[in-house]
Amino acid sequence: MGKLANPKKTIEIIQKNRFNFQKKYGQNFLIDSHVLDKIIAAAEIVKEDFVLEIGPGIGTLTQYLAESAREVAAVEIDRNLIPILGETLSSYDNVTIINQDILKVDIAALAEQRNGGRPIKVVGNLPYYITTPIVMGLLESDVPLESITVMVQKEVAQRMQAQPGTKDYGALSLAVQYYAEPYLAANVPPNCFIPRPGVGSAVIRLNKRKEPPVAVTDEKLLFSLIRASFNQRRKTLVNGLNNAGGLPFSKEQIAEALRQIGQSETVRGETLTLEDFAALSEALTSA
Ligand code: SAM
Repeated sequence: MGKLANPKKTIEIIQKNRFNFQKKYGQNFLIDSHVLDKIIAAAEIVKEDFVLEIGPGIGTLTQYLAESAREVAAVEIDRNLIPILGETLSSYDNVTIINQDILKVDIAALAEQRNGGRPIKVVGNLPYYITTPIVMGLLESDVPLESITVMVQKEVAQRMQAQPGTKDYGALSLAVQYYAEPYLAANVPPNCFIPRPGVGSAVIRLNKRKEPPVAVTDEKLLFSLIRASFNQRRKTLVNGLNNAGGLPFSKEQIAEALRQIGQSETVRGETLTLEDFAALSEALTSA
C-alpha cells in the first residue's frame, strides 16, 4: 500500500470500501502531503517517540507517524474505518488501532504501558466538534505529556494563542496558556481535505509546561474568575464577577481586591493577563 496523502488514492480507498463520511464525527481527511510533512515537523517526531494519534480516519497521517516514531497508538471511534485501517497500515508493525471514543480512553494507562510513564506526544487532525474537551482534558489531566500538535479550526487556534486586549483573547487563551506554550505552525485551507470543511484550519503545537507560569492557592477559584469574567464580556469586571453564579464575593470585596492588585474598578477582563488573574485570585482568597 502506497502513501494515501493525495486525492486520487484517498478517493480510491473510499470508493473501494464503500465508505460513507459521517458528518457527526467531523470527518475531513487530509489529501495534501505538504501539510502532513508540516505536522510531522511541527510535532518534532523522532525515532524514540511513542505517539498517540487522535482520529486516524483512513490512516493518512498515521502512515507518516509510523515512519517517524518508534510506536503509534491511534484511537478511532468509527468502527467502519477499522477494516480500512487494517489494510492501509498493513505494512507497519509499530501501529496499534484502538476502536474507542478518545474521551473515554485511559491515556495515562496507555502512556504507562507503552512508554514506561514517560511524557508522550499527542498528534491528530482533530474532529472539530470536540476540540476543547480533547485538548483541555489532556492538559488538565495527569497524563505525562510532552506536547500536543493538532489540526484545529483556525479561529480556535487563534483563540488558544491570543494575548490580552485582542478580540480573540478569552477563557480558552488563559486556560491553554496556564498549562502550555502555544505555537502556531501552519494555516491550512479547506482544499487540503476531502470533503472540504466549511472553515479554515490551522496546525497548533502546545508544549506542556512543567509548572504553571503563576502560582495560586486555589486553582479552582482562578478558573472560576476567568470563566465568569469572559461570560459577561461587555460588563466591567466588578459587575461581571458580582453577577456570576457560584462566586461568593460582594461588589465591595471585588472592588477592594482590584484596588489591591493595582487595577481600576472599571477594568474589563479582556485586558487582564494571567498574572493579573492570579493576583486577583490571591487577593480574593484572603478577602
Ligand atoms: N487523521 C485523518 C486525516 O487527517 O485524514 C482523519 C481526520 S478527521 C478530521 C477526524 C477523525 O476523528 C475521523 O476519522 C473521525 O471518525 C475521528 N473521530 C471523531 N470523533 C472521535 C472520537 N470521539 N474519538 C476518536 N476518534 C474520533
